[in-house]
Amino acid sequence: MKIHEYQAKEVLRRYKTPLLEGRVAYSVNEAVDVARDIGGEVWVVKAQIHAGGRGKGGGVKLAKGIEEVRKHAEAILGMQLVTHQTGPEGKKVNQLLIEAGCNIDHEYYLAAVLDRETATVCIMGSYEGGMDIEEVASKTPGKIRKEFFDPAEGMHGFQARRLALAIGIPPKLVNRAAALILGVARCFVEEDSTLVEINPLVTTKDGKVIALDAKMTFDDNAMFRHADIEAYRDVTEEVPEETEAKKYDLSYIKLDGTIGCMVNGAGLAMSTMDIIKLHGGDPANFLDVGGGANAERVTAAFKLILGDENVKAVLVNIFGGIMKCDVIAQGVIAAAREVDLKVPVVVRLEGTNVEKGRKLLDESGLKIQSATDLTDAAKKVVAAAKG
Ligand code: ADP
Ligand code: MG
Repeated sequence: MKIHEYQAKEVLRRYKTPLLEGRVAYSVNEAVDVARDIGGEVWVVKAQIHAGGRGKGGGVKLAKGIEEVRKHAEAILGMQLVTHQTGPEGKKVNQLLIEAGCNIDHEYYLAAVLDRETATVCIMGSYEGGMDIEEVASKTPGKIRKEFFDPAEGMHGFQARRLALAIGIPPKLVNRAAALILGVARCFVEEDSTLVEINPLVTTKDGKVIALDAKMTFDDNAMFRHADIEAYRDVTEEVPEETEAKKYDLSYIKLDGTIGCMVNGAGLAMSTMDIIKLHGGDPANFLDVGGGANAERVTAAFKLILGDENVKAVLVNIFGGIMKCDVIAQGVIAAAREVDLKVPVVVRLEGTNVEKGRKLLDESGLKIQSATDLTDAAKKVVAAAKG
């Protein structure tokens, strides 16, 4: 789950991260009021969307004077902001963060991520922070320095200081930077975060170390124990199909291929996607209907798959253990009738009540090809998708 920058900053504040004064605004007038409340002469007007690269896309503007705050807020609020992370269609800006301007001395990079290889938390930093960090990472990865720690143990003070020094924080600011780094490390672990990214982390002319930008994502499976974070959820930023899927307890991830997949069990769903790829096709989604699905849930799942206009064929691959094959068949038939099925469907059923399930499908009058095993199913659906 992703949250907005202003929300991430609210979370970081609890970990004593030094931040600039700022507040969210939902209208131009509110933006102006917030700027007046903050005071000073320079502000930044920042689009709040669930994507980075806003600066380059025109979603972060420096305002020298209240009139400029108004002008930038008018331009950014409601715009369709396109960045390298939004895709070509962009994202609509529904809220702004108005923050005090900052006299930046240098922009660094700082992030916390999970390192799967060593099963530890990786804190990385770089002297080359700011808007071109992706290029630094791909062309000069050596400029990114790392520290690792076990989440049960936490990050040590010396590690934070070593990282601060390694990325070139001036020695007299190392202790301040280290305190910020330790806060980020603790926040990552305690909030069940999957990413905390501060880009840029800045030093200022007057000797401060500040988190100028903040991006956070969280482990969806841990949200049950973070009601405060769950409350930050902004469904307007999420893929509508995925929000719909959650209502029915379906694990659905939209992808960009042409073969819709309906599978039970995450492992089987992964191998179904693999075997489609192996035979030259591209899955349109990951979908796990779960073990105890009923006909209603299967119908919802089928409708989700068919709602994607890229889908040229559907593969239903069910191993009926807890889930019974006839229930799946009923769901497929009900959904196919409801949505006026136009694309070919290949079904591979195996397990409990498989005979009943196949019989239902055969007698349904729908154009459904049955497959004997996974390879057969993959070959048939790839051929069907290619027309
Ligand atoms: P994004 O990463 O989405 O482009 P950032 O919040 O990192 O957005 O802002 C982009 C750039 O704008 C920063 O690298 C920094 O140079 C500048 N900037 C952001 N906030 C401020 C601020 N409060 N004062 C001065 N400059 C800022
Ligand atoms: Mg940034």
